Amino acid sequence: MPPKSTPRRIARAARFRSKLLAWFRRHGRDLPWRRTRDPYRILVSEVMLQQTQVARVSEYYPRFLAAFPTLDRLAAARPQRVREAWDGLGYYRRAANLQRLAREVERNHGGRLPSEPEALRALPGVGRYTAGAIASFAFGKAVPAVDTNVSRVIRRAFHPRLPGNGQGEQRVWLTAAALLPRRARDAWAFNQAVMELGALVCTARVAHCGGCPVRGACLTGSRRSAQQRSSKQRDEGQHPGQ
Ligand code: SF4
Repeated sequence: MPPKSTPRRIARAARFRSKLLAWFRRHGRDLPWRRTRDPYRILVSEVMLQQTQVARVSEYYPRFLAAFPTLDRLAAARPQRVREAWDGLGYYRRAANLQRLAREVERNHGGRLPSEPEALRALPGVGRYTAGAIASFAFGKAVPAVDTNVSRVIRRAFHPRLPGNGQGEQRVWLTAAALLPRRARDAWAFNQAVMELGALVCTARVAHCGGCPVRGACLTGSRRSAQQRSSKQRDEGQHPGQ
């Protein structure tokens, strides 16, 4: 059961959203898959990004799309050719799943990727995150897309004590959904922005709270600010006049 939305929580969520969107507009990276709304191209990027770093995907993504520019070309290709085009990215099962998906979309969806997360999740290799990402990034749906970066940011910002189990994860998804702006364009930017914050600022190794745009709206960041303030006051009290 989600905690009740108090006016204070609502205000903090609004602050988090607006600070994050403003930061993303200035600092979001210009990545190839952010320049397109083509469902097939978004799909390819999301499958590649599942287990591979952005820098490596940026290198292989155009090469793969040059070999298979459309979903029907991928569906019709020899599996060996698909594997060759994937060469260097590793986790080849993703390439095989991607082609299985393309064939199923050709067979059962008239060659067009479905736009609803539930229908996307029924496709080979598509989990809850990927379904949300395609629905949001390609079709402009205001739905959450929670990957490990997003989960980490939301936990630190809103639920620092949440358990790492399935129930905790479900809570994170609910918060991600509640935070989403209603306008499709803003929802696209918001999902991209949380991911970007998790990749660049609130990273798995270290939370760079000092330079974080949402620090004032984040429970972990606010707690650290308060700790810094009180240790500074303590130091000043211990060393008067210095
Ligand atoms: S203030 Fe710190 S913990 Fe909170 S989102 Fe920013 S980097 Fe992460």
